[in-house]
Amino acid sequence: MRMQRYISYLLIIVTSFWLSGCATNPVTGKKELMLMSSNQERAMGEQNDPQITQFFGVYDDKQLQQFINQKGQEMAKVSHRPDLAYEFKVVDSPVVNAFAVPGGFIYFTRGIMAHFNNEAEFAGVLGHEIGHVTARHSASQYTKQMLAQVGMVAGMVLAPELAQFADAAQQGLGLLFLKFGRDDETQSDKLGVEYSTKIGYDADEMANFFSTLDRMRGDAGQSVPTFMSTHPDPANRQKNVQQLAKKWKRKTKATDLEVGRNSYLKMIDGLLYGEDPNQGYLEAGTFYHPVLKFKFPTPQGWTFQNTPQQVQMAHKEGRAIMTLSLGQGNSLEEAGQALVKNNNLSVIQSDKGDVNGLPALSILADVQPQQNQGQPQQQQQQQQIRLLTYLIQYGGNIYNITGISTQQDFNQFSNTFTSTMKNFSELTDQSKINVQPERISIQEVARTATLSQVLKGFKMPNDRLEELAVLNGMQLTDQVKQGTLIKTVVRGSADAFAKEK
Ligand SMILES: [Zn+2]
Repeated sequence: MRMQRYISYLLIIVTSFWLSGCATNPVTGKKELMLMSSNQERAMGEQNDPQITQFFGVYDDKQLQQFINQKGQEMAKVSHRPDLAYEFKVVDSPVVNAFAVPGGFIYFTRGIMAHFNNEAEFAGVLGHEIGHVTARHSASQYTKQMLAQVGMVAGMVLAPELAQFADAAQQGLGLLFLKFGRDDETQSDKLGVEYSTKIGYDADEMANFFSTLDRMRGDAGQSVPTFMSTHPDPANRQKNVQQLAKKWKRKTKATDLEVGRNSYLKMIDGLLYGEDPNQGYLEAGTFYHPVLKFKFPTPQGWTFQNTPQQVQMAHKEGRAIMTLSLGQGNSLEEAGQALVKNNNLSVIQSDKGDVNGLPALSILADVQPQQNQGQPQQQQQQQQIRLLTYLIQYGGNIYNITGISTQQDFNQFSNTFTSTMKNFSELTDQSKINVQPERISIQEVARTATLSQVLKGFKMPNDRLEELAVLNGMQLTDQVKQGTLIKTVVRGSADAFAKEK
């Protein structure tokens, strides 16, 4: 989590629902029933953008932001909707993904930026995302996603099956960017080839990037990017893009299409790679936050997720969930009142005290069910939800740790809840505070050898060689020529990294 108040970005939404009309699709030229006008699309993008950038954080690297914006604007001019006011951002997430929001807002994660091996791969995906905007794909997807989001918020305290909640909560913002249909993806691939060729990049490279994604998908530990998730056969997609690349090369009569490998690699030298421990990390069952300087134990065998807004822990079968977030208000009392009011709680017991010397307020409460007339009494009883919250005042913040389950299950989980809550404490251990994130470090190969030998030569551990091969878009058995630049991964602060160069 970051130093941010919990924001209910999920509720942004509901404003622009039933707007429909006929409009001409800029790509196909056909009349289509559209859910939103261009202006409404733009308004939606503008409304969502602050929430998205706050959720992920904008990645702090001027050069990289300048690069994505410059290439994006250049490409927008040659696209089917050159008049939109596009915005391009690299967001601070380790997940490998890129996504577009109606109105021309396009986001790349630092995770995907780390996995490109040249400018042309980047340009192909950039064109693909611009393609979703110009062909107005997201416009027709949005309503469904938003309904899902609203449903998720309502479901949070009312649904009888907590399993659903746990599942939805774990997907987090992922839900906001549901999959496009296969036809939409194919069309965007086509537009990606067209747009990237038009600004002078070799679109063959985009096809190569699909094999990188495919290899990541095979690796259980890696996240699958949504922009390929609807494609069961990436090999097909790769072939298709290769053919399109040939076609567009002929069409534009381009002779010197750019790949831009070295320039790209030099630009991402020092890029954060993987989770940033400064936003909190889990180690041997304990969660540490080195910046906010607290720690707490997490329940054994529960799933765990750290997002900028909260830390989520969920029982494997979804029968209970626990979250840590920032409370609202300037005092424990204010935070308690806000909690009771916002969640329509009926308080069973409330105690003031301390947790490891920190002022705390505990609240045991039931969520008052909404009046669902017409529903059988029995069904309503199943929906009774009980929660235990510890509000803890520390370091200028109020932390809210809440455990939720059904009334029926509550006794079974209350010890699990309190053993996390009562063991929240100040973090003073310097070895846990001074952790450094991993960064991409670009190295020049001194002697021709296999990638495996080269990586070992740079002291990369054996159990990470395959991961690094994927990151480099190569096989471990590939011969790497002397003088080639390759990616390695090292731990270090941004400062240390800058000095090294
Ligand atoms: Zn896509």
